[in-house]
Amino acid sequence: MNADSLLIEVENTFPPIDKPKGLDLSFHKDDCPHCEYLRQDLEVFEGRELPPQALREIYSEMSCLSAAGWRWALPSYLKHCLKVPLAVALHYNDGETEFLIYNLGPKEEHQAETIERLSLLNQSQIDCLIHFLEWCSVHEHWSNYCAEDIQRALAFMHTVQPNPTLKRDAPSARPLAAR
Ligand SMILES: [Zn+2]
Repeated sequence: MNADSLLIEVENTFPPIDKPKGLDLSFHKDDCPHCEYLRQDLEVFEGRELPPQALREIYSEMSCLSAAGWRWALPSYLKHCLKVPLAVALHYNDGETEFLIYNLGPKEEHQAETIERLSLLNQSQIDCLIHFLEWCSVHEHWSNYCAEDIQRALAFMHTVQPNPTLKRDAPSARPLAAR
């Protein structure tokens, strides 16, 4: 799958949503300074679309975002990763893409928390993340730079179950009971 068709898939499966309010944005609530700093750093970004500066704030702090925070960030985040020109990836790397690969392939001790952060995604969105990793696995830069991390992320993401209360594709999907 190429970046252009993946961008269309992202547009279709990850509709931009409102930013989660207050403590709902962060993984930990009022007892964690890391999460508090991230909430403060993101205060200026209130819209559904996250500009590049917002992605710069979160790319190495994705574990501080809640499941609702991930669902808010992913549409813009994935589009950013898919639009990085090849020459830029080859010469300057791209921290956002690199860290998303790491975040989707956690070590065993971090898998339960990662599953919690992915728990508001439906099957189509999980599939889209898998397609993103498959794209990385054959990408001229990423396939060289972190092949093992991509494979670990693919293996992990294939084990992630969608939230059973979320329809696959609202609103035209069949009801869950009919599957
Ligand atoms: Zn925290």
